[in-house]
Amino acid sequence: MKIFCIGRNYAAHAKELNNDIPDEPLVFCKPHSAVLKNGKPFFHPDFSNNVHHEVELVLRICRNGKHIEERFAHKYYDRITVGLDLTARDIQDRLKAKGHPWEIAKGFDGSAPLGDFISLDEIDDVNNIEFSLVRNGEIAQQGNTKDLLFNFDKLISYISKYFILHQGDYIFTGTPKGVSKLNIGDRLEAFIGDKKLLQTKVL
Ligand code: ZN
Repeated sequence: MKIFCIGRNYAAHAKELNNDIPDEPLVFCKPHSAVLKNGKPFFHPDFSNNVHHEVELVLRICRNGKHIEERFAHKYYDRITVGLDLTARDIQDRLKAKGHPWEIAKGFDGSAPLGDFISLDEIDDVNNIEFSLVRNGEIAQQGNTKDLLFNFDKLISYISKYFILHQGDYIFTGTPKGVSKLNIGDRLEAFIGDKKLLQTKVL
């Protein structure tokens, strides 16, 4: 199973971190060991003082494919949820400044909490999905797929040029604005519309 993630896929988020808006999708991977499921707690790593939450919609790939054309891409995912692309921002900034890969800032253990998947049949329009992150009872991030720079079909087509997609792979599709530092004790809940699909606690 592979986990693909997309950086800077919402313009307002790219801007809040002073990044340029990309002209093609920015793809990176997390290892399988990053996944945290079933409401398990996230143990804050001691190597970072600035782990950020990034709430993202996550697609589950339902069939194998390579070189998938955009017009057929919708046939390659059938389930969706919300996930968190937890990011050690202090480490990422240091690595970015040197032009180094950022795996240790993005792919460490537990850095990919995943919600419960729902069928796409429950979604009216994939280009108008509201999702949000609530931290300690208050809205921390809100997004809508209408603001995506590269929509789901474009992402699947682009990724499959370089990597064969397998049934069971995940794609984290990018975070909207509002990322910020997690604190020990935080309670996190993430939603698609008003459906709560993910919860975890920072310990
Ligand atoms: Zn992200």
